[in-house]
Amino acid sequence: MSKTGYFTHRDCRKHEMGPGHPECPERLDAIEDRLLISGVGDALVRCEAPLASLDEIELAHGRMHVASLRGLSDTLREDVQAGGPRHAYLDPDTAMNVDSWDAILRSAGATMAATDAVMAGELENAFCAVRPPGHHACRDKAMGFCFINNVAVAAKYALERHGLARVAIVDFDVHHGNGTEDIVDGDERILMVSFYQHPFYPHGGSHSNASNMVNVPVPAYSKGPVVRELIEKQWIPKLEEHRPEMIFISAGFDAHREDDLGQLGLVEADYTWITEQIKAVAVKHAQGRIVSCLEGGYNLGALARSVAAHLRVLTAA
Ligand SMILES: [Zn+2]
Repeated sequence: MSKTGYFTHRDCRKHEMGPGHPECPERLDAIEDRLLISGVGDALVRCEAPLASLDEIELAHGRMHVASLRGLSDTLREDVQAGGPRHAYLDPDTAMNVDSWDAILRSAGATMAATDAVMAGELENAFCAVRPPGHHACRDKAMGFCFINNVAVAAKYALERHGLARVAIVDFDVHHGNGTEDIVDGDERILMVSFYQHPFYPHGGSHSNASNMVNVPVPAYSKGPVVRELIEKQWIPKLEEHRPEMIFISAGFDAHREDDLGQLGLVEADYTWITEQIKAVAVKHAQGRIVSCLEGGYNLGALARSVAAHLRVLTAA
């Protein structure tokens, strides 16, 4: 059996963006419950996510962006103490409460601590059950429920601090990882492969044609077989060619057919298959090194079952 880390922190539960918001703390509870019931949790090494340092976050983000988020958090704290509103909005869907800043630092901290543990050989791979998610966070902009790009930070960290020459980012969230693209576009050390419903949020228009980007738009209502064929034809050859020394996954589960935030038709078996493909590349080229990080997934039942399917593959021998 592989040694799989499970990085999370109670601070990630305290971040909330108001009643009825789909990116809610209960997402993490649903995952925990399912891991317990299914027995998948027994195979995981539980690890506490540390706080990321600002230096580390600035590997992928501009100093002003990081400073403005931190400043917004400080101002909000004072406003709330004075009886003001409990949320500060960065866009209509994306808000901070007084606990968001710590959750943001824990989420990015999780992916880097997971990278350290996997690089040290203490873990073969790891999953970060964290929120807020990150793949819409651009170098200088928060948007789409995301503030800091957890996966992009970890990918840069693996290159800069661990001296790796090549890594890959695999993004299977239903939404295009525009933030990750913004940060890694043109960086030949990082191959990013993704599929996403298109046209759809974040409505970026044309996507990058840089040689390190494999963007695979998929029409609404596509199901597993279509996505699997695209992955086989478009992702796998590029991943094989790139020979990543470590693979990072933006693991969003909102392409599930039960998820109302997207209109794709994936099921748990598709997440199993996709994870198997990624793991096979990692075993062949990267000593099995994978750090996966939760992105979207808003139908609580489908999210929890899909994460369990994903983790079942990561923990398998
Ligand atoms: Zn998404």
